[in-house]
Amino acid sequence: MAGAFPPSLEILVTHLMKLPTIGRRSAERLAFHLLKSPREQSVELSEAVVRMKDRLRRCSRCFNITEDDPCAICRDPSRDSKILCVVEDAPDALAVESAGGFRGRYHVLEGCLSPLKGVTAGDLHIAELDERVASEGVEELILAMNPSVDGEATALFVTQRYAPKGLRLSRIALGLPMGGSLEYADEQTLQHALSGRTPISGRES
Ligand SMILES: [Zn+2]
Repeated sequence: MAGAFPPSLEILVTHLMKLPTIGRRSAERLAFHLLKSPREQSVELSEAVVRMKDRLRRCSRCFNITEDDPCAICRDPSRDSKILCVVEDAPDALAVESAGGFRGRYHVLEGCLSPLKGVTAGDLHIAELDERVASEGVEELILAMNPSVDGEATALFVTQRYAPKGLRLSRIALGLPMGGSLEYADEQTLQHALSGRTPISGRES
């Protein structure tokens, strides 16, 4: 019963419940775990949260999260600037990067088109993608949107925008379940999805 909790414990539980997938019972379990753990652990946890909030920003080129701008991937001269992997948001770029094997660079849209939620191309980093395509010698876009209705709509929009410019476009698909999220896909599934991407438009290489 919520009213039975001492105020400081209730406040922590309330904050934990704001986190994704954490319901009241899970929040209570986490709070009691912290209560029983050494004080130092709680101090380090709270400091880690604040440090992360203070230090992380968006890369001004690819919009991935980074502590330094431009990010390490944009600065790395060994990465292939001709190939951009276009993703909805930073966790997706991190997931593809963790899977390994991709040597191009990223472009994070920071969202996907959603007519229902009123998200249009102007809300995404499409203008910045135009700019990169024009100035960085980009030849190929790998579309790694989430397998959802909005992800599909976004992939279609990007395809229709850049195919006429002569870019090679491909979409990762193999092994990714509909309604799923790139962020939670295992490494093998993502590796298969990348290597098994299918051309949508563009020249044969
Ligand atoms: Zn970057």
